[in-house]
Amino acid sequence: MKFKKIADFLLDACLPPCCVLCGETHKLLEFTSSGNNLLCTACRADFFLQPSKRCARCALPLPSNEAAKICGDCLQQAPYFDATCAVCDYVPPFDELIVQFKFHRQLHLAALFAASLRDRAIEQADVLPDLLCPVPLGRLRLCERGYNQSLEITRHLSKFLGIPCQPELLVRIKETLPQSSLPQEARHHNLRDAFTTHPEWQHTIEGRHIGVIDDVMTTGTTLNETAVCLKHYGAKKVSNFVFARTPRNKL
Ligand SMILES: [Zn+2]
Ligand SMILES: [Zn+2]
Repeated sequence: MKFKKIADFLLDACLPPCCVLCGETHKLLEFTSSGNNLLCTACRADFFLQPSKRCARCALPLPSNEAAKICGDCLQQAPYFDATCAVCDYVPPFDELIVQFKFHRQLHLAALFAASLRDRAIEQADVLPDLLCPVPLGRLRLCERGYNQSLEITRHLSKFLGIPCQPELLVRIKETLPQSSLPQEARHHNLRDAFTTHPEWQHTIEGRHIGVIDDVMTTGTTLNETAVCLKHYGAKKVSNFVFARTPRNKL
C-alpha cells in the first residue's frame, strides 16, 4: 500500500493527470472513488452541469420551455422501455470521448461516464432500478475489441449507486451488423430476436425494475429490443442509462 502511494506520487509528479476534455493539469476533480482525476472544474461546469431538458422516455432533447415530459414521438408510438436517463448529446466534445473509450481502450473513461450518469439518475430518482445489466456485445465484436464498453460503465455505476449488476442477464444470440452501418429502416430487422436472457438469471427479472446500460443511444432500436426481451421475461419496468444520446437532427 505504501509502495503504491509512493508510485502514484512519482507518476503524478512526472506525468501529471490532465483533464480528458481540455488537457488542463490543474484543479482536477476527484471524480471516482479510486482517485482517478479525469475532469477539470471548468469543463465540469461547462459540459456536465448544464441542465438539459429531455424526454423522460427516450431522452431526446426537448425545448427548454416545453411543459410536456414526453416527446411527440413517444406519445405517438411508445417504446417498450419506460424511461431513459442520458448525460449529454452525442456531439463534440463527447463524441471524441466515446471514440477514445470504445476504440482506443481508454477504459478509465468508464468511471467518468458512470459518475455523471449516477448524478443524472439521482436527479431523476424514479428511474433507479433494482438490478443493472449492460447491453451485451456479440462474441465476434467482443473478441475484436477485447472488452464490452457497456459492461465497463455498468460495473462503476453499480458501485456508485449501490445497485447490484448482473453482467450476463442479457445475452446476444445473433451476430448483428453494427447499427451505425445501416439505414434507419433496416435497423429493427437487423436486431430482431438478437437478444435473450441467461437461463441462470431469468428468475431475477420477474416483477423487477431493470436498468440497461449502454454508452450511446442512437435511434433507440437496440434498447427497444433489449426492453422487449426483458418485458417478455416479466420485468415490471425497464429504464435505460446511456452516457450520450444522438440528437434528432443527427439521426
Ligand atoms: Zn478541462
Ligand atoms: Zn421520447
